[in-house]
Amino acid sequence: MDYCKYHPIEAATYHCTDCSIYTCDSCINDGKNQRYEGGRCFTCGEELDCQGARNTAIPFWRRLPESFRYPLDSNAIILIIAISIVSAIVISLPFGFILAVAVEGAFIKYCFTCLNDTSDGNFNVPKIERAYKGAISIALMMIGLVICAFSIVFLIEKLINPAIANFVAVLMVISTPAVVIVYAITDDLKTAVNPISILRLMLNVGLSYGLLLGFILLMVGSVNVINQFIGENISFLSGVIQSMVTNYYLVVLFHMMGYMIFQYQAELGFSARVDSDVLREKRNDIDVLKSRIDVTIKEGDYEEVALIFEKAIKNFPKEKYFFEQYFQFLMAVDLKQKQSEWMKDFIPKYFDFLIKNNLQNKMPTSYKFVINKNKEYQFNSAELKLKVAKACFKKGEARLVAHILKDLHKQHPKFDGLSEAYLLMADALDTLPKMKQKADKYRQFSKVLNK
Ligand SMILES: [Zn+2]
Ligand SMILES: [Zn+2]
Repeated sequence: MDYCKYHPIEAATYHCTDCSIYTCDSCINDGKNQRYEGGRCFTCGEELDCQGARNTAIPFWRRLPESFRYPLDSNAIILIIAISIVSAIVISLPFGFILAVAVEGAFIKYCFTCLNDTSDGNFNVPKIERAYKGAISIALMMIGLVICAFSIVFLIEKLINPAIANFVAVLMVISTPAVVIVYAITDDLKTAVNPISILRLMLNVGLSYGLLLGFILLMVGSVNVINQFIGENISFLSGVIQSMVTNYYLVVLFHMMGYMIFQYQAELGFSARVDSDVLREKRNDIDVLKSRIDVTIKEGDYEEVALIFEKAIKNFPKEKYFFEQYFQFLMAVDLKQKQSEWMKDFIPKYFDFLIKNNLQNKMPTSYKFVINKNKEYQFNSAELKLKVAKACFKKGEARLVAHILKDLHKQHPKFDGLSEAYLLMADALDTLPKMKQKADKYRQFSKVLNK
């Protein structure tokens, strides 16, 4: 199994041939305004190859319990019981055999529906109504195929020799699941019985095909065991029971074959996914941007990340995620000279955002991060300084208040709020040890400014 380059425990669902990387569903550029059906690579912008379910599907032999539980749904159970009873009844009528084949034909039609649904990634049994549509043609086709197969073996035995006839018979039995699968994929009988397409399917599926045959043998074996258990004199009831077991196995088997198509879809030349509708829905631009940021951070291209964040904040000024993530990003990375440039631009915006969203209680911690990153950092706006200082004072961070408001009158001599700011400074200094004198000085200064 291949994994997403950026999420090492996530199974890959896309592949970029240009970058030769695998990605998961979230690490692709698939915005609503994307014209391309799938997604594009964030790094190179090329269209990505969909991995289908090949990579994410667990092999069919590891989901046996699910396969055997598959028919345990009222739709399938009712049909299995009904078909079994009806075929037990009709078999006792004149020409009963032909009628029984017709009834079983309807059931096989239902099994094909199970197979087709499963191969599309829909793992629920189909509704009963879908059993009898087109059932007659499938029944006739089955009868035709069986007669053909018997005739071929019979002719070879009579005209060539019995050993070759046996060999051909074994080959036919082995090919049966392949014929069913190819028929389900192509809906074309000629292709389904073509030895080349049968062989191609077997080679593509490989070992799994052998395992499938093994399961068929086990199922046939267990039906035989039931036969022996019941004994020679087949009563109506035992006939029904045998038929029920066989039909149950048929549903399981067709579900397994459908799953095989689902699992090997890329090799078999088409693609389907579990819950395809849900996954194919395009994400909105914000989610795509989030993924782009995530991928670019993991690529280590921090300058590009900062550019994306700047753009995101400009285009989506109400999106908290971008503000919070960009702040954390800037506090975490070191972009050398660029760092102070980005900070100068973004930090005031970030504190404005905190104010607008009533997140003042976050300010002291955020401010500590900022001066930790850059001791020289100062807001350009005196208003913002005062607002942040107030928030810090509320949180009991007197030292931060002193740090922010220091030399305010020198840097902003024309600021209206100087008096208010220095009164705040005085109140903050009051709470600090040995600062009484300094506090009084600021208080007086504040009074002077107020006049
Ligand atoms: Zn990913
Ligand atoms: Zn790429």
